[in-house]
Amino acid sequence: MNQSETPTTSGDSAAVVKQGGRKGMKAKAATVIGKQQISPDLIRLRFSSPEMIGTELPFSDHYIKLFFIPAGADYSWPFDLAQIRETAPREFHPVTRTYTLRTFDSNTGEFDVDFVAHGDTGLAGPWAQRAEIGDQLGFAGPGGGWKPEASYEHFVLAGDEAAAPAIFAALEQLPAGTTATAFVEIANNQALFDAPSSSAINLVWVPRDGATHGTKLIEAVREAGYPTKKTSWFIHGVAEMVKETRRFLFVDGGVNKEDASISGYWRLGMTEDQWQASKSEFNEENEAAERAALEK
Ligand SMILES: Cc1cc2nc3c(=O)[nH]c(=O)nc-3n(C[C@H](O)[C@H](O)[C@H](O)COP(=O)(O)OP(=O)(O)OC[C@H]3O[C@@H](n4cnc5c(N)ncnc54)[C@H](O)[C@@H]3O)c2cc1C
Repeated sequence: MNQSETPTTSGDSAAVVKQGGRKGMKAKAATVIGKQQISPDLIRLRFSSPEMIGTELPFSDHYIKLFFIPAGADYSWPFDLAQIRETAPREFHPVTRTYTLRTFDSNTGEFDVDFVAHGDTGLAGPWAQRAEIGDQLGFAGPGGGWKPEASYEHFVLAGDEAAAPAIFAALEQLPAGTTATAFVEIANNQALFDAPSSSAINLVWVPRDGATHGTKLIEAVREAGYPTKKTSWFIHGVAEMVKETRRFLFVDGGVNKEDASISGYWRLGMTEDQWQASKSEFNEENEAAERAALEK
């Protein structure tokens, strides 16, 4: 299976379910122990989860599925996920939202998650804005499946704020002797935040300055072109950008799919549930359009 199609790199539910099967999936507990506004648009919450102590996380794109309880449900955290799925009406099953582990300490079970504060709509973004020390929720995972491999000489990473945690975690794990160029889209030049830095890293901030999410990012990636070194690509973020970047890589550039991890983390105008439900169709349409373009 190509990296571009690997469910574990795209946050698909199947990746987490693999860890015990949907029926046997058990929610772990996380408690908020720190809160920091790291940019005007990003909130970092530090969580403690003793059940995570000793967990080995070998990749740089590890993510978890946070559980949110629908309004009107008659249960609260902590809950037994299997029991709720068996007994509660479907509309009251917990709703999941996918987030990257920006950092993880296997000795303490503590981890950081950076949430995009994207306004009042949605569940996770507004929850993070309101979160207080001591708040608790359940989560499933972690899943994940990509890291910068030493078999490559160079890495090109690109994404918006939602993918920045995975991009920065990858930059912190660059194999010795390799280099990376990372394109990170942000609202504007006032929205910068702390990033890994070394002589091996070329970090390009891409301000949207009011443009639609993803449009400036793909322009920047296109303009930089295709590196001559043996390169691995990690491209994630808003779905519309991913569609354009797939064309740039696989149709225009002849990049091997095995050399790219690329998927939409979210989609404009869709909740995560809506995006996950339509993602296979979106991917199939992209792949069909790419095949047709290559046959011309
Ligand atoms: C593997 C994986 C890892 C991810 N890691 C992170 C992460 O570390 N940090 C992070 O912030 N996100 C991350 N995401 C994206 C996150 O899961 C989605 O953005 C999710 O939709 C947010 O849920 P919500 O409840 O806030 O909004 P939803 O209820 O899902 O959506 C409500 C509305 O908000 C819009 N919206 C959603 N996300 C954004 C955004 N980023 N910017 C602007 N508008 C948005 C939607 O289009 C919709 O119109 C990741 C996704 C995947 C698949």
